Amino acid sequence: MFGFLYTRVYSLSLTMCVRSCFRSPRLQWVWRTAFLKHTQRRHQGSHRWTHLGGSTYRAVIFDMGGVLIPSPGRVAAEWEVQNRIPSGTILKALMEGGENGPWMRFMRAEITAEGFLREFGRLCSEMLKTTSVPVDSFFSLLTSERVAKQFPVMTEAITQIRAKGLQTAVLSNNFYLPNQKSFLPLDRKQFDVIVESCMEGICKPDPRIYKLCLERLGLQPSESIFLDDLGPNLKEAARLGIHTIKVNDPETAVKELEALLGFTLRVGVPNTRPVKKTMEIPKDSLQKYLKDLLGIQTTGPLELLQFDHGQSNPTYYIRLANRDLVLRKKPPGTLLPSAHAIEREFRIMKALANAGVPVPNVLDLCEDSSVIGTPFYVMEYCPGLIYKDPSLPGLEPSHRRAIYTAMNTVLCKIHSVDLQAVGLEDYGKQGDYIPRQVRTWVKQYRASETSTIPAMERLIEWLPLHLPRQQRTTVVHGDFRLDNLVFHPEEPEVLAVLDWELSTLGDPLADVAYSCLAHYLPSSFPVLRGQASSTYAEQTGKLTEFVSNLAWDFAVKEGFRVFKEMPFTNPLTRSYHTWARPQSQWCPTGSRSYSSVPEASPAHTSRGGLVISPESLSPPVRELYHRLKHFMEQRVYPAEPELQSHQASAARWSPSPLIEDLKEKAKAEGLWNLFLPLEADPEKKYGAGLTNMEYAHLCELMGTSLYAPEVCNCSAPDTGNMELLVRYGTEAQKARWLIPLLEGKARSCFAMTEPQVASSDATNIEASIREEDSFYVINGHKWWITGILDPRCQLCVFMGKTDPHALRHRQQSVLLVPMDTPGIKIIRPLTVYGLEDAPGGHGEVRFEHVRVPKENMVLGPGRGFEIAQGRLGPGRIHHCMRLIGFSERALALMKARVKSRVAFGKPLVEQGTVLADIAQSRVEIEQARLLVLRAAHLMDLAGNKAAALDIAMIKMVAPSMASRVIDRAIQAFGAAGLSSDYPLAQFFTWARALRFADGPDEVHRATVAKLELKHRI
Ligand SMILES: Cc1cc2nc3c(=O)[nH]c(=O)nc-3n(C[C@H](O)[C@H](O)[C@H](O)COP(=O)(O)OP(=O)(O)OC[C@H]3O[C@@H](n4cnc5c(N)ncnc54)[C@H](O)[C@@H]3O)c2cc1C
Repeated sequence: MFGFLYTRVYSLSLTMCVRSCFRSPRLQWVWRTAFLKHTQRRHQGSHRWTHLGGSTYRAVIFDMGGVLIPSPGRVAAEWEVQNRIPSGTILKALMEGGENGPWMRFMRAEITAEGFLREFGRLCSEMLKTTSVPVDSFFSLLTSERVAKQFPVMTEAITQIRAKGLQTAVLSNNFYLPNQKSFLPLDRKQFDVIVESCMEGICKPDPRIYKLCLERLGLQPSESIFLDDLGPNLKEAARLGIHTIKVNDPETAVKELEALLGFTLRVGVPNTRPVKKTMEIPKDSLQKYLKDLLGIQTTGPLELLQFDHGQSNPTYYIRLANRDLVLRKKPPGTLLPSAHAIEREFRIMKALANAGVPVPNVLDLCEDSSVIGTPFYVMEYCPGLIYKDPSLPGLEPSHRRAIYTAMNTVLCKIHSVDLQAVGLEDYGKQGDYIPRQVRTWVKQYRASETSTIPAMERLIEWLPLHLPRQQRTTVVHGDFRLDNLVFHPEEPEVLAVLDWELSTLGDPLADVAYSCLAHYLPSSFPVLRGQASSTYAEQTGKLTEFVSNLAWDFAVKEGFRVFKEMPFTNPLTRSYHTWARPQSQWCPTGSRSYSSVPEASPAHTSRGGLVISPESLSPPVRELYHRLKHFMEQRVYPAEPELQSHQASAARWSPSPLIEDLKEKAKAEGLWNLFLPLEADPEKKYGAGLTNMEYAHLCELMGTSLYAPEVCNCSAPDTGNMELLVRYGTEAQKARWLIPLLEGKARSCFAMTEPQVASSDATNIEASIREEDSFYVINGHKWWITGILDPRCQLCVFMGKTDPHALRHRQQSVLLVPMDTPGIKIIRPLTVYGLEDAPGGHGEVRFEHVRVPKENMVLGPGRGFEIAQGRLGPGRIHHCMRLIGFSERALALMKARVKSRVAFGKPLVEQGTVLADIAQSRVEIEQARLLVLRAAHLMDLAGNKAAALDIAMIKMVAPSMASRVIDRAIQAFGAAGLSSDYPLAQFFTWARALRFADGPDEVHRATVAKLELKHRI
């Protein structure tokens, strides 16, 4: 109750600020960022932690075969019958050899599918003493779509588990198929973490694989439940302290899991559960009453469930004779006179239904306590969706907008009701609503006060002095929030507004302010979850001091100061920083807040805050990050020497077969096309759907190797060109160029720079694009065209002038030029500090009467400048992300080197200058990374244009920072640092080259200075 009261005081301070809030969308995230910082939990794995319904478990880990899908043993039994093979042969052969048998080696990817089938077939033949056993057909059956289907009961259970905020994982002994993809016939989106033995090279029951899974979940063993069908796997899990469930049959296992978790795993009537013993009501008399009320003669049994919400006024679901009903009653015992007034709820819903406000259809108010022990009322059950998490995870931005628009629309309807017409003039006192509320809450707070809270004292003084002058009187819902609304399952339409317990006549701004709370509090905040319930009251009460500070800050600092001084349109506002604030009880001392996002949802929700550590990414992206890291360690770094020697060999102008092989592997592991920003590809049609900020962490990791970006199809200039096609290409252009690029079958180049003009000023470009019948004819001289020498290069994105007499920025156009068009003459490969960068190279090239069909024009004549800006924004910041990766690798190499190298009697690391260099490098990397992340974050939040300053700043900072860090590493290495035995020399070369290739430093400086002068006077 105490916390509940406080919520009201807090909401009032929001009421004071509400006009400002509406005028400043930015303010919402300023505040959220500041607040979230406060609430960051120490435990990195605590995502989605508040919905747990009292259970201490935070994740459920599933084995795959035998738990989610049929076990190989069961499939084998079916196959043996079909093929007249003695029963048990396959199982015996699978177990043969134990740890070192073909099956376990196959699970650890030590042998291929072909190798396994060969050995396995031989084993079976030996056992049966026949010439051949058709094990291929067993394998086909095992992996067939017909058999490898997830049990629906498990799908339901997973949905319910995730809806309750727990994480889910698969921990499977699994194998690679002949196509090099792992056998995972599951919807990956169902899981936060997927750990497969073939990818890790470790099988259950090896304890390391369980630990790996827990580490990725960010949990302790005791916080998770593990389901497997095999005793030894469960035994090891239990030994580690994980709670286990043996799965003999999925249905029974789900029941056992339900009992452990304490909530239903069946999708029945949403948000209900069996009636608790203490909440039972007499069914017989209720059935009799309902029969009379509904005029039914015969009925089947009355089905009764209890809603999760609404312990204040207990609420039940009833099914009787095909009628779905809801009963809401007063709680038992002695009640305060004005509390739990269900009669008022009944009255207002009846009145509002007549005024066109969507409310459940109320049927009857029964004030006769002899029926079920207390008065109650009955209404029709309104099926639909209730969104529990105000951040609406998993929905597209446009859908989220529509949901909130519908919410606002219905609130307007409530506030527009004509009180007289619906007979509600006496539903509450008229006028003076907010002062009265403040007085009441202060009185109630004082009555339950246990110690002095300074911020609360300040608020109590401050609020009466800052009340809104003008007040309207309308119906006020009093608890207007998203999870009190029932939505249409397919349309963004509110079907019913629920829970009118706190409704009265008052100032409509109170509802507006209260509904805005969700924008400022993280969805994990307990106040938002059933705040009026006793379950949360104690927990919420503990938060009082914390919330007092929050409300005080909001009222006096953010609500007014930030808005007044920092209008949204000013790109130089500093409001997006992650604030370092004192630790609170909600953020235990000693923990380091890496992210302003305490709770990550299955969808990519990092949009709300600046995530500065990969460990704070949402679980699926974090899992992707770890998968990439593992791939880098297992596949990419070990391949570097061979890839480098290919680049120095006579065959260097042909692509390395090893790169092609690694590309296939990366594709199979889902580490492909990660670069395309969610904002350019909101439906994730083409890419992985990461935000720029999420990608920043992955791109940095790829940047630690010169080869990884290409391996993962994330390398320049293809990335920029693909984004250009996604953003501006026609469907025909996409089909012809984008698809092969996305598949990694083709490569491309971007031709803008010209030797005869200063190309850092793109308006200088002279190449001509002339119309001739249904063609454009190109003439021009270009150089530094990266990738043009690659035999796989099929597309040249060409920039030239269609109209030299048009306005300066309307002269250029972009044409898609097939590389096999006659007239393209490559003159020579240029070198960077002597490096050719084969097979793509950097070419000097002439375009002589190159005829290109008119439909190859992008967007239209004169739009080239606009396109180049769009293309180069995100693409260029990718270079900065990679430069952080270069620098991290250089520093790591340097640290290892100076620890092992001894000069003048002691390791180099003991030299003060070396220590100073290491420290300097660490500081510079961290500074630059923060700037990269901030630019990426702003691009996500406000778009590339609004982030122009941050993009320019990081382009100014990152290449020279990387050059300095790499140079220090080279120095520490001695002469070896200059050799090709280490990647340092190449890193240095590319970091230096990027001070031109990404536009000269001076141009970025000019941009920063221009914006600084424009907005900072
Ligand atoms: C490795 C590499 C790869 C490249 N890949 C491509 C590619 O794929 N496609 C492509 O079209 N181009 C590419 N380029 C070219 C690159 O984009 C240009 O080099 C760059 O835009 C600069 O143009 P410029 O060389 O003509 O220098 P110029 O424009 O001649 O400038 C020379 C110098 O003038 C100074 N300067 C310029 N403007 C200002 C200013 N406003 N204030 C103060 N000083 C200034 C700077 O010091 C600058 O370095 C690549 C370059 C490199 C090194």
